[in-house]
Amino acid sequence: MRVFHLHTKSSGDDLDEWYDQFRRTHKCQGCGALGLDVRTGPIDVYLAHKPDRSALNVSHLLIGIIRIDFMRLFEPEFLQCLLVGDVLDRHGNPIEGFATFHSSKPIPIRSGPESTHRVCDKCGRFVYSCVGDEDYVMRDCLTGQPVYEAGMGDILLTEELYSRIDRKKWKGFWVDELPVRDTPLDGIDVFPENYY
Ligand SMILES: [Zn+2]
Repeated sequence: MRVFHLHTKSSGDDLDEWYDQFRRTHKCQGCGALGLDVRTGPIDVYLAHKPDRSALNVSHLLIGIIRIDFMRLFEPEFLQCLLVGDVLDRHGNPIEGFATFHSSKPIPIRSGPESTHRVCDKCGRFVYSCVGDEDYVMRDCLTGQPVYEAGMGDILLTEELYSRIDRKKWKGFWVDELPVRDTPLDGIDVFPENYY
């Protein structure tokens, strides 16, 4: 099994009023995690300006934004596996050509022994940060989906979906092929369920 991690390079320009309200209402004030109540449905994002032409983008609230023509490369799988919402302007009108995405449960990307973790004192969630350049996914986290949300506006693709991308044509993201491991490198044997 080969998997490819697409990292976004660009960040959207969230509309201030929406940003403040969403952050207060739907993000943990301790760790910034997205509320589980909004994770289970599509999320619409309000931007002050149209995103740049990057294939992938991320709002300041860490909700992924994808160009719809790029997303079409991964249909129908993308729509079956991820929750897709609208990108709206300050008047609530759709910004054509862009969609948001996330999932009810992102796949955890893990890294080496320097990675850090803590328990959020506000919501009790397990907060993990990759440190180092040894990122990988655990084999038992791959549930057979062809595409996963990988947090921070990133996606993880299987080889078949990744092979649909013409790298000369599509810009605005980095790609790493991630090792699939059976044993972790970060010293955490059982990764907690409440990591997202
Ligand atoms: Zn928290």
